Amino acid sequence: MTKRIGAPVVPLLGDDVESIKYALSSHLLYTVGKEPVNATARDWFMAAAHTVRDRVTEHWMPTLNRYYQDDRKRVYYLSMEFLIGRTLVNSLINLGIYDNVRTAITELGQDFDEVAAWEVEAALGNGGLGRLAACLLDSMATIGVAGFGYGIRYDYGMFTQHVEHGWQVESPENWLRYGNPWEFPRPGVIYPVRFGGKVIHYRDALGHARSQWVDAEEVMAMAFDVPVPGYGGKVVNNLRLWSAKSTREFDLKYFNAGNYIEAVRDKNESETLSKVLYPSDMTDRGKELRFKQEYFFVAASIQDILGRFRKSHSDWSLLPDKVAIQLNDTHPALVVAELMRVLVDEHQIEWSKAGDITRRCCAYTNHTLLPEALETWPVDLFQRVLPRHLEIVYQMNHEFLQGVRYRHPGDSELLRRVSLIAEEGGQRVRMAHLAVIGSHKVNGVAAIHTGLMKSTIFSDFEHLSPGKITNKTNGVTPRRWLLAANPRLSRLITEKIGDSWITDLDQLRKLEKLADNKAFRKAFAEVKRANKDSLAAMMSMRLGVDVDVESLFDVQVKRIHEYKRQLLNVLHVVTRYNRIRTNPLLNPVPRTVIIGGKAAPGYHIAKLIIKLINDIAEVVNNDPQVGRTLKVVFVPNYNVSTAELVMPAADLSEQISTAGTEASGTGNMKMSMNGALTIGTWDGANVEICEEVGEENMFLFGLTAQEVARRRMDGHDAQAAVAANPELAHALDLIGSGFFSPDQPDRHRQLVDILTSGGDHYLLTADYPLYMAAQDRVDQTYRDPEDWTRKAILNVARMGKFSSDRTVAEYAREIWNAI
Ligand SMILES: *Cc1c(COP(=O)(O)O)cnc(C)c1O
Repeated sequence: MTKRIGAPVVPLLGDDVESIKYALSSHLLYTVGKEPVNATARDWFMAAAHTVRDRVTEHWMPTLNRYYQDDRKRVYYLSMEFLIGRTLVNSLINLGIYDNVRTAITELGQDFDEVAAWEVEAALGNGGLGRLAACLLDSMATIGVAGFGYGIRYDYGMFTQHVEHGWQVESPENWLRYGNPWEFPRPGVIYPVRFGGKVIHYRDALGHARSQWVDAEEVMAMAFDVPVPGYGGKVVNNLRLWSAKSTREFDLKYFNAGNYIEAVRDKNESETLSKVLYPSDMTDRGKELRFKQEYFFVAASIQDILGRFRKSHSDWSLLPDKVAIQLNDTHPALVVAELMRVLVDEHQIEWSKAGDITRRCCAYTNHTLLPEALETWPVDLFQRVLPRHLEIVYQMNHEFLQGVRYRHPGDSELLRRVSLIAEEGGQRVRMAHLAVIGSHKVNGVAAIHTGLMKSTIFSDFEHLSPGKITNKTNGVTPRRWLLAANPRLSRLITEKIGDSWITDLDQLRKLEKLADNKAFRKAFAEVKRANKDSLAAMMSMRLGVDVDVESLFDVQVKRIHEYKRQLLNVLHVVTRYNRIRTNPLLNPVPRTVIIGGKAAPGYHIAKLIIKLINDIAEVVNNDPQVGRTLKVVFVPNYNVSTAELVMPAADLSEQISTAGTEASGTGNMKMSMNGALTIGTWDGANVEICEEVGEENMFLFGLTAQEVARRRMDGHDAQAAVAANPELAHALDLIGSGFFSPDQPDRHRQLVDILTSGGDHYLLTADYPLYMAAQDRVDQTYRDPEDWTRKAILNVARMGKFSSDRTVAEYAREIWNAI
């Protein structure tokens, strides 16, 4: 076997069925401490996970050693979130041992799918941003970038969502309860992280002005490593997650005073830093714990990164040649100030040289243009928690503004706009501006989003540093989102065009000509039908809703947010319901409308939208006049595992955000890749999906981003829009008057008011008629199954661009300079 480069430390483990059966039984006994007679399915899962982990690990250490020997440039992807999902099946597939392990488990008398279902998913993220981080890690390992992820090992990840009486109820997800078989604790890799204290200014022996941060409190960050195998299993990269631990000295202070209880209580307090993921997509305003979490993982990661660099190098000016640091949104933007602090205060590097090194290492990915989601921190909080960093921010700002003033004399408005400090309504540090001036590249995540970045929130920076802002359109990993999630379609594709599409997704183009082949269309439609059967079985078993699998599966799954406009979807559902009720001769295309997604616990409107969906489902699903022609299903606890079940079963993908608000979207890619047609706005990656698959194979509608901006400037008259459209007026009237909430008729009044008297900021009433027209086109197309399937095949065939392998290759070439 030539599986490993370099001399193997131990003989390579066997991948044949017999070796795997032996490994499973050994782990069941020696790792889990059970025998087959008393082992549960979870015990078998643990044995399987360890069997797989062994086979991942044997390529992991050699990969890291190789990077060290070759002195490779490392790419560090810093993200507060990694929405990983389950690991077992994905690792089996990437290692190429899925069939053998499945057979081995079956031969040992266990049901493989039942065993795999016991895995608790790693949900260390909210939604798209965290899932992107996970897809990029998979792609970095697959295409061979020396990529390291850094994040936080939250004790509690994303909450579990239950639906009680139609309302969202959150419960904490103690995902580590049974242990995490994929991680390696590294008690020896532990760094101090400091908070508070004060700054002392002095002159050193050479007369240089120096600063020292003293009297700070200390918390320790301990590493947990998770191996990340690429497809093929040869490259296994590392995801390092930090967990907070109290310092020993901290305890001793109390122990010496004889206060044991106080010591233990304090220990708990410092360990709250990595206790829980903030469950709000986009906004986490002003929470000190959140700010401390950000610095905690930044400070630990920087110490680790610089420590690794210093093992091979003493010349700091080489840092940008050996280290790329990608900031996933502004959450790790403190990297800029921290790297400056370490270089200047701890290694006595001259300020301007430190600035140059920092900028050449760092790059920043922006994920949103929504003003309420742009991170700022109050200066007084910053001062209290990170006094030295605030000084550094001020100094950087001073020099930056001086440069701007020199180039644009007299333009004080420009200075106010680009300053790192926002002055209006109490001073705040603008983290996006810190990230921009501390980076050599700033990227958006879809072409339209990058264009809007340049013309709106960062237009001044675009003028000051032309070329700094670039586009890197998001992608998703075809391993998880097609190969693993949709085995039926994967098999069909591989039968026809071979399996090179798995790592070269452009190969899917070869399916184009099969779109005109009737036998292939039949096979493709049968796959979709089987996937719909699987989803229907789940919905029947877990939710007690029986749906017609012949009906069009109309799917909107994503975080619940006003800008994503689940309410617009609801308005279509209610209109459809009204049409069916008022016209018995209608003969509509049967639809199953599937909606899923979590609301941030403090986001009242989003939670009310969930309740409205469930109230409507209750009425519609029980109306005998409607029968099987319309069903509404809210799928609870939308997470990666649910997505893997839902994406392959979707006929119609709802991507209906107000144009200009969804930076990219990746759910749109997953569904299209699995043969759904998209109904969507000219927003995010929808625009580029359209360029690839063709407008005739999608249902795009609505105001463009430009038209949205104009309409808002001119003032949108929602009342007039409602008055002009009787169907819209009727739908709003039913919702607002309590037709779907007879037990509390005014329950949904607020949702209607937002649209009618609240300004309708997201312009639902403006897009409604166009959306309805697009839905009519959907129905017409679905009535011709051959045409529908043809379009679905063309969607799959033309999704090559949206592989995260392409995304990573672009980052590597144009930002990281790392092959
Ligand atoms: C892909 C994905 C998302 C992102 O979906 P969008 O439609 O792009 O917002 C969110 N959550 C989960 C679980 C996902 O898999």
